[in-house]
Amino acid sequence: MDTFNNDVIVKEIKGRLSIINLIESYTSVKKSGRGFVGLCPFHDDKNPSMHVDEEKGLFHCFSCGAGGDIFGFYMRYNNLSFPEALTELAKKANVEISKSPLKPTKDNSRIGPLYKLNNAALKFYQKTLALKEKGKAAREYLKKRNMPPELIDEFSLGYAPSEWDALAKFLAKNNIPLNLAERVGLIVKRKQGDGYYDRFRDRIMFPIKDLEGKVIGFGGRVIKEDEQPKYMNSPESPVYSKRRSFYGVDKSRDFIRREGRAVLVEGYTDFLALYTSGIKNVVATLGTSLTHDHGVILRRYTENVVVLFDSDESGIKASLRSLDVLLDEGLMPHVAPLPPGEDPDSFIKKHGAEKFSALIESSESWIDFFIDRTLSRYREGSLTMNQLVKEVSELLIKVQNPVERSLNIKKASEKLGIRENEILSYVKHRKGRGQSGSNRTASYSSHEKLLLTVLLKFPELSSVIADKNWPEFIENPEIQSILDEIISGGVHDVSNLLVHFNNRPEQDLISEFLLSSDGITDADTAGNMLESCVRKLTAGKRDARLKALRLEIDQAVKDKDQQAEKKLLKEYSDLRKQK
Ligand SMILES: [Zn+2]
Repeated sequence: MDTFNNDVIVKEIKGRLSIINLIESYTSVKKSGRGFVGLCPFHDDKNPSMHVDEEKGLFHCFSCGAGGDIFGFYMRYNNLSFPEALTELAKKANVEISKSPLKPTKDNSRIGPLYKLNNAALKFYQKTLALKEKGKAAREYLKKRNMPPELIDEFSLGYAPSEWDALAKFLAKNNIPLNLAERVGLIVKRKQGDGYYDRFRDRIMFPIKDLEGKVIGFGGRVIKEDEQPKYMNSPESPVYSKRRSFYGVDKSRDFIRREGRAVLVEGYTDFLALYTSGIKNVVATLGTSLTHDHGVILRRYTENVVVLFDSDESGIKASLRSLDVLLDEGLMPHVAPLPPGEDPDSFIKKHGAEKFSALIESSESWIDFFIDRTLSRYREGSLTMNQLVKEVSELLIKVQNPVERSLNIKKASEKLGIRENEILSYVKHRKGRGQSGSNRTASYSSHEKLLLTVLLKFPELSSVIADKNWPEFIENPEIQSILDEIISGGVHDVSNLLVHFNNRPEQDLISEFLLSSDGITDADTAGNMLESCVRKLTAGKRDARLKALRLEIDQAVKDKDQQAEKKLLKEYSDLRKQK
């Protein structure tokens, strides 16, 4: 979503809206020292731990780590994407977005032609499907699969003809650069001789679109059942990443919001089967299991996700990963077991849409389902009481929302017939050992923190470290990516930085560090602090390497490997000299 050049609008909105007023409408804040504090709405806060700095336009919770500017707060609170938050806050601030159109950034202008090209291909496939003779078999296939013309239209389905280079020829005739078509994987270079051939041939084409409805790739399904592979998708490209894409979400997201629930399936066939039978709050992954990126996207629309699975033991196992990802991203998964061997498409064909809706309606919380299933394994004698408590507690640890977690701990203690404290102490113990929480930022050293804090306050000093080999001595990945943005992006305004990292752990770090940068006031001191951080970080890195080398040398001596010993000794003495 950072493909908008929205600097001007963002500045305008920030100038007009006060972060205190905005946050006050969600949680109470009161003056404290130079700033404001309030109860943090992003964790189960008992003592006010959220600090708000009006002047800097930032908030930060010193307990759970949530932080950012008004956009960050609004997105997080309402589960919105950046463009959605921008639109809504623009309204609140009376800033007209349509008068100042969102211009594409440099990045967007590089990938813009790829969308256009995909769109040209979509039109070509649609036209071919409509051709009297060429498209006949494909149209008959779609009819047989119960895909009505309205659906074919709504999802822009098409047909790739049974020829080696029909699309390549069409693109060439229309002066569309073939190397671009190769980049998005629509055509493939011939191994022998010149020219290209079409990747998709004699297939029904399902365009894959992003949230804004732009074509990012294609899925193709054979129409002759004996052809292989049955399904084929566009390869990864600058516009298409399967880890981040859902099929059909541009059409279904409003239904998901309205129903307060999403039904998760795999692939466009299952998606369209549900959608045509009136179950429109559906999303489908494409050739990959659910990823954390998918979880983040889903969370914008709903907390409740129904996962369908084959009800035998292996079907449950196959779904465990998705369920874990959902819990980890703070969503509440529900499960609806299908009869063994069935998928949504075949179930609807066999039993009808009403039965399927009933299945969704009766879906059960994954946590309840898991506890009941584990409890019956205990009753059968295949688990001890200790194992039972352990397995249930391990699942409850993954629940991110503290309110949900304590509710479920209560429920579990009732079902298992043990005291709440027994589960609670297990959960606390495991959490204390560094289990993932909602704040998953990796740890950083105090010098890494200081270095970034100084640079955030004085971005113009980035030249001090730009010519040093900083990725060598900065280890925290979030700090690395923020530094990279400041240095290579030439960032001088921290607001832009926050927008770039919208809704990510980087935002939390930036706001935390900015709010703790009050002691640093003049550029000279800041410059000296930077130099000293770099010295200490490089020295630390060197000492760690020296220590490792000593162990490696000992090992080489033990192994009587003289060649290795000699090489390691040389590295050791060279490194010592740098001290
Ligand atoms: Zn918090």
